[in-house]
Amino acid sequence: MTEKHSGMRRKIGLFGGTFDPVHNGHLRMALEAGEELALEQVRLLPCHRPPHRETPNVDSDQRTHMLRLAVESCPLLKLDDRELRRDGPSYTLETLQSLRAELGPEVSLIWVMGSDSFLGLESWHRWRELLDYAHLLVVARPGWELPQEGALHDWLLNHRAESQQSLEATPAGSVLVRSLRLLPISATEIRQIIAGGQSPQFLLPESVWQYVQKRRLYHP
Ligand code: ATP
Repeated sequence: MTEKHSGMRRKIGLFGGTFDPVHNGHLRMALEAGEELALEQVRLLPCHRPPHRETPNVDSDQRTHMLRLAVESCPLLKLDDRELRRDGPSYTLETLQSLRAELGPEVSLIWVMGSDSFLGLESWHRWRELLDYAHLLVVARPGWELPQEGALHDWLLNHRAESQQSLEATPAGSVLVRSLRLLPISATEIRQIIAGGQSPQFLLPESVWQYVQKRRLYHP
């Protein structure tokens, strides 16, 4: 344990996604969340079978390989491939239960998500129980507002934390909303750029782009 963390509750960030492919928007957000909230590490968790969207174009081993290449040069970011080792849909609740079992009851777990994903939270498997296992960090993404009414709005109101001190006060249970620098990059756009015969260079790590070319991923 480093001195920075001694005497305080350990805090670990978790960032799940399809990462089809991982890009600088994901990586910059993970890094800024980690630094802003003084997290010990941010784990990137590739989804094996996303419950809410179509099966990705590229298989999970390749998406995971790209993530491994992407985090290599950044000590704060780690790859966590536990969802790949589980069959069936990748429910976040089960992922959090498995992390809790492994890391113990005291560590603060912080599930990081963009505000676009947050808007769809009500369709997640047993979504209200997520806070039994982790805090939620919702990062405001341009073009996506927080819910203004309805069950999700009420739930947010009930659990929203004013300051990041709540991440140290308890290991789970609160929702923090933050604006971080968000790069206007999406994986959908990268796939379209490649399919259209153009180059996505500089929108994603060079090592990932090299791999995409070598394997001819997303190419028509
Ligand atoms: P797609 O375009 O295929 O939907 P995506 O780029 O949105 O992909 P996902 O893997 O679906 O990426 O998203 C994983 C997480 O990353 C979500 O919580 C989403 O809000 C967040 N995210 C996606 N793009 C960015 C970005 N440019 N900056 C910050 N966060 C992002």
